[in-house]
Amino acid sequence: MAQEFDVVVIGGGPGGYVAAIKAAQAGKSVAIVEAKKLGGTCLHRGCIPTKALLKAAHVYQTAKQSATYGVETGDVTFNMERAQTYKRDLVAGLEKGIEHLMKQGKIEVFRGKASILGPSIFSPQPGTVSVEDETGESELILPNQLIIATGSIPREIPGLPFDHERILNSDDLLNFETLPESIAIVGGGVIGVEWASMLVDLDVNVTLIEVGDRLLPLEDKAVSREVERLLKKRGVRVKKSVTVDAERTSIHKESVELAVGEETLNVDCVLVSVGRVANTEDLGLQNTSIVVENGIIQVDSQYRTKERHIFAIGDCIGKLQLAHVASAEGVKAVETILGLEPTPLDYMLIPRCVYSVPEVASVGLTEEAAKDAGHDVKTGTYRFNGLGKARIEGQADGFVKLVSDKETDDLLGVHIVGPKATELITEGGLALVLNATAWEMGQLVHPHPALSEAFQEAALAVDGLPIHA
Ligand code: FAD
Repeated sequence: MAQEFDVVVIGGGPGGYVAAIKAAQAGKSVAIVEAKKLGGTCLHRGCIPTKALLKAAHVYQTAKQSATYGVETGDVTFNMERAQTYKRDLVAGLEKGIEHLMKQGKIEVFRGKASILGPSIFSPQPGTVSVEDETGESELILPNQLIIATGSIPREIPGLPFDHERILNSDDLLNFETLPESIAIVGGGVIGVEWASMLVDLDVNVTLIEVGDRLLPLEDKAVSREVERLLKKRGVRVKKSVTVDAERTSIHKESVELAVGEETLNVDCVLVSVGRVANTEDLGLQNTSIVVENGIIQVDSQYRTKERHIFAIGDCIGKLQLAHVASAEGVKAVETILGLEPTPLDYMLIPRCVYSVPEVASVGLTEEAAKDAGHDVKTGTYRFNGLGKARIEGQADGFVKLVSDKETDDLLGVHIVGPKATELITEGGLALVLNATAWEMGQLVHPHPALSEAFQEAALAVDGLPIHA
């Protein structure tokens, strides 16, 4: 027999488990199917474990520089095994938290791999879910409404498949108990820049390779330039506008000769971070009329697929592949199921973050995108080195850049490279949501000393009048 539920969610990542909680809060009977562990990529292979190791690397660097503050520690060493234990304990604790939330919401958790069946004796419409556990046993679940949240997996470079020892993806590197001496990172997007920043802090010899002409290609050009400058200053070798030649690359037992443009790099291993592909294979989508393009599930602005009772959210729909986006999409999908007709998510108002040193965060339009959209643009930039608080923190690199419309003064974009950028960006996000002008941001009295003073100064700089410049 098939068990019936109002809402069934496939995938227990930040998209799926948040959708499940939201549906349960509305009084629905809810089941969630997870093939690996609750928390998904974000908790086990993404946001949390990478930030835990970044924190470890940051503490190591801070300890090395502690004499500046009068704290004398003697020789400072880094123990990767210990850092891994810290990371694992942290992840396990947060996983327990999600399990608790499932229990609290009376959400039934099915452990196993889900696949979607076509019309059956249980239902005339496709969508019955078969769950196969590790022992090969299967059971059936019958959803009234189904949400697919199966996430994404690392993309490979053609001809250079992951061997998980020398050619790595970020899942592999996250579990290393010892650090390589040297690494080539292919892909200068968010994941590549974060790993480059972390590994150089841990004394690894890093070469960062990007096929395009700048790092973080989705960010404002000024941000890309600053990030490259600061990575280079810390010892990262950056190679742009070059491609990896898989055919001329040789993989040995303990090293890789990586052919990059005209050059051959001898490195211990290669991290491939060239994006992620939607995880939609073997899901039984061919048993439905759901449209899939390049593996990406096609949805409307309410996350509905071509099957009216089946929704898809998160990385598997290939929009902004971020945890908070997956969760927000999950909430919207459930609101649609509840008949609340939610306003579509405005992707321009979603903050984008890179947890490198210094951090990068942005919301809204880049200067280039604002011009392309037809705005006559004015900008204001303020560098953190003008602020007492940034100097106290010993992190005075970077800036806040505001992009606004010349005629209306409406803020169009906020871009930060600098300390605590991923926290500071929320002020920029709120300003955009409230349709604030640069003048209004400049009127807000900011606390002193604080990193957020950079907003006020950048806002004043939009009209050329910052105080501390
Ligand atoms: P996922 O988190 O991928 O969850 C999908 C779940 O579905 C998985 O648990 C999987 O096991 C399960 N599943 C798949 N198929 C089936 C099936 N057939 N049956 C049952 N279960 C199935 N985002 C941020 O916002 N901030 C960050 O700092 C950040 N850092 C990142 C760092 C790295 C290295 C990586 C790789 C990603 C990072 N991301 C970050 C992106 C973020 O992790 C993803 O955007 C987010 O996890 C997507 O959530 P999701 O729910 O769509 O999918």
